[in-house]
Amino acid sequence: MPHHLTVIGGGFAGLTAAITAAESGAQVTLYESHHTLGGRARTTEAGPYRTNEGPHALYNGGPHWAWLKQRGLLPPLAPLPPLEAARTRLRHRGMPRRLPPLGMLKLLRRKPEQAPVDRDFLSWATDQVGDEGARAAAHYIAVALFHHDPGALSAAFVHERLRRAFKLPPEAHYLRGGWSALIDVMAARAWDLGVRIETAARVDSGALAAHAQDGPVIVATSLDAARGLLGDASLRWDSGRTVLIDLAIRRRRGDAFIVSDLDTPGWVERFSAVDPTLAPAGEQLIQGQVPVGPGESKDDGVLRAEELLDLGMPGWRERTTWRREALANGRTGALDRPGTTWRDRPAIDRGDGVYLAGDQVAAPGVLAEVSFTSAVTAATLAVGASRRITA
Ligand SMILES: Cc1cc2nc3c(=O)[nH]c(=O)nc-3n(C[C@H](O)[C@H](O)[C@H](O)COP(=O)(O)OP(=O)(O)OC[C@H]3O[C@@H](n4cnc5c(N)ncnc54)[C@H](O)[C@@H]3O)c2cc1C
Repeated sequence: MPHHLTVIGGGFAGLTAAITAAESGAQVTLYESHHTLGGRARTTEAGPYRTNEGPHALYNGGPHWAWLKQRGLLPPLAPLPPLEAARTRLRHRGMPRRLPPLGMLKLLRRKPEQAPVDRDFLSWATDQVGDEGARAAAHYIAVALFHHDPGALSAAFVHERLRRAFKLPPEAHYLRGGWSALIDVMAARAWDLGVRIETAARVDSGALAAHAQDGPVIVATSLDAARGLLGDASLRWDSGRTVLIDLAIRRRRGDAFIVSDLDTPGWVERFSAVDPTLAPAGEQLIQGQVPVGPGESKDDGVLRAEELLDLGMPGWRERTTWRREALANGRTGALDRPGTTWRDRPAIDRGDGVYLAGDQVAAPGVLAEVSFTSAVTAATLAVGASRRITA
């Protein structure tokens, strides 16, 4: 008899869990509270522009890449034209530069096992290469951390991300049309496997308990939502707070592709350089993120993003045709403090047939890879548990 399994949440984690469980022969029902699937991987259409919630890259060194590719689920990629790659600018000591300080590059040569878990990145990296390279590296890697002070996080955690973000050829890839292209193919695969998908279907604690009577339940929501659903106050982990800026401007030759701030965390990127389908002809779509500290406001972050735009896209104000700003608080994945690793985050197996998946739980990887890995693990454990019960 096929065993039944419930998945709560239809984002990247929920769909990964549903597909994994259905491939093992489970009968899966997935509930998503929003009227569309995707969660934070949704691409929204704002008039003629297509934007993700902040810059979204898929790293090809991650486990999700191989898994998606094996199943033919990788949507068409938007390759970066070589000329655009050369238009990357770094702000260092207030000036635009093409190359980072040597100390930052030297850090990349340190082996992963050399970066300690129990020390903060800035003090460790300063011992290795001096203050200038250490600070520049900490600020550069904010692009994958969304944190206002990456130097205060675990050296092992930050160094792993630095190595992956700075690899050549680059690991970061962009999906043509945005991440919803990925969600669409994953949803189609889930349908093909017989997964029952219910959208606009919010599950509350009572309904969760009822589903748990029928078989294992995978809670694939954000950690905040899981905390409420499971009534478990211990479900907490650090995450970033960042200002997001989306901007459409009229095209002009010579605009930078990326402006990365090495003086303080911040990043703006002209996404339509990689994927022209994101903006109408003659316009370009820029997205940026500037992490802000607890005492800083959205306006502080916007101001810093504007400084980067001044540096890389001169005259952008007069060319602006559309603009949107937002603050993403605690939505950008797990951050590990000194002395902690992913193993210390909330465990996947919550007992009584309930499993957690998401980007702030105990699984390795960068950003959405944590959602992916925890979802595969949760589904494997859940299917194994229900097989044991049925047997
Ligand atoms: C600004 C920003 C930039 C990012 N950039 C990158 C990047 O470049 N690369 C990368 O790999 N990752 C990136 N991420 C992270 C990535 O978006 C997330 O890790 C991933 O999308 C999380 O997927 P998830 O399924 O775990 O959670 P979510 O996407 O949050 O999905 C959870 C789903 O559960 C649903 N839900 C919640 N409560 C209930 C309920 N009670 N009943 C039913 N459904 C419910 C929600 O509606 C949602 O659809 C970024 C995130 C942000 C915010």
